Amino acid sequence: MANDSEPFSEKLRVPEALTFDDVLLRPKESRVEPDEADTATRVSKNVELNVPVLTAAMDTVTESDMAIAMARQGGLGVLHRNMDTDEMATEIERVKRYDELIIRDVVTAHPEQTVREVDRMMDRKGVSGAPVVDDETGKVLGIISGTDIRPYLEVGESDAVTEAMTDEVITASEDVTPRAALELMYDHKIERVPIVDEENRLVGLITMGGVLKRREYDNAARDEDGHLRVGAAVGPFEVDRAAAAGEAGVDVLFIDCAHAHNANVIDSAREIKATVDADVVVGNIGTSEAAEAVVDFADGVKVGIGPGSICTTRVVTGAGMPQITAVSQVADVASQHDVPVIADGGIRYSGDAIKAIAAGADAVMLGSYFAGTDEAPGRVIQMNGKKYKQYRGMGSVGAMSEGGGERYLKEDDEDEDYVPEGVEAATPYKGSLASELHQLVGGMQSGMGYVGAETIPEFKQRSEFVRVSSAGHQESHPHDVMITDEAPNYSPDS
Ligand code: 5GP
Repeated sequence: MANDSEPFSEKLRVPEALTFDDVLLRPKESRVEPDEADTATRVSKNVELNVPVLTAAMDTVTESDMAIAMARQGGLGVLHRNMDTDEMATEIERVKRYDELIIRDVVTAHPEQTVREVDRMMDRKGVSGAPVVDDETGKVLGIISGTDIRPYLEVGESDAVTEAMTDEVITASEDVTPRAALELMYDHKIERVPIVDEENRLVGLITMGGVLKRREYDNAARDEDGHLRVGAAVGPFEVDRAAAAGEAGVDVLFIDCAHAHNANVIDSAREIKATVDADVVVGNIGTSEAAEAVVDFADGVKVGIGPGSICTTRVVTGAGMPQITAVSQVADVASQHDVPVIADGGIRYSGDAIKAIAAGADAVMLGSYFAGTDEAPGRVIQMNGKKYKQYRGMGSVGAMSEGGGERYLKEDDEDEDYVPEGVEAATPYKGSLASELHQLVGGMQSGMGYVGAETIPEFKQRSEFVRVSSAGHQESHPHDVMITDEAPNYSPDS
């Protein structure tokens, strides 16, 4: 480094920094079939995922629809923060309640109602049965379904519901497992089981449809109570938002800052960590010194200074760190402290994602890859006969003017005279998240197969890189042909 005694030209003795296209995984002897490769990982100290993939905290990528779809598939959606605190709490609660085994907001019937009234109520509420509950005590007196009601509608529609209901009710307690609930329903040929406390008061309901729906997502990322996992971004100084997100039940909070190696940001992140029960991931960082500065309190670190597809940080500020080197430098430090690493940004193909893991990441975060899916916010736009969805950087003028400026340590500017570090763009429309994620994870598993690793930790140890020349890079992509049919996992435009 240049100082009084060192010439400036010394600065040009620079270390090399590499990114995705500079390296390839060295193939190794293997007995691992891609389907057998286990992608389970940790995203933070206390949160495990079955799929090592996160969707970016961006207002054109992750709201609750995306977070639900991601968690159902085993990954994690990170809600963006261009919404007010109350809205964020509602979004978090929506994800946590989705696919809930025990429905808490139960439609109930009451003993003084007539059969006709209950029939109309069930119709209105879209349910096919309801526990009959004593208004005063909250105790379950019986259960009534469409089948019980039908004969009464012919002859005794003004009879009390207590006449028609089944009064020998099969109930369960709150700690019932999905399997036990299903067995109860099969054994008694019923479709719903009221959940009661020790006093036989109604606390919830489990339905057969609900249990079977959850079975479709047996790889889902769930917390210890069986609720879907969700992440949320908070600005580096948003202690109140962090507290509200924590209260709403968020699993992982992401300190959302373009340059977290900043003393004020780190002080505030420490305060946030002390305020909430949720895990706290600190980012973004890109060097080993930055990792040293946060590993004593962070539950995870997120890496990426300027690799994002919509990002102009490197050209606007002249600062950045090519992503493979950044991940490896951070992982050198984080792995010594058992802190998981997330590689955020710049991933275009499944091959990039698995290279990031080989460089030391435990999971990857993507924006552009998922912005074109149905579950991303925003509508489909038609341009020149092709379908697109909007995708914009959170440091773009549009996103910053809606509240994202703090990520770039800039005040909200009423004149909107921002110095942006991102662009507003469009990305091809891609259909469902499930099929995009399937391609991404399938490609990553194939990468694990080429290296002979059955698990993510084993892959991180066993994988090695080779350096690729520009001729080698050209050889890697389809060449000397005209592509006639688009592959589901490759586009030359990427
Ligand atoms: P992508 O997967 O599209 O390559 O990158 C997504 C990541 O880019 C996000 O998770 C976030 O870290 C980063 N990012 C999002 N918006 C901006 C922006 O406007 N500027 C910069 N520098 N980075 C951004």
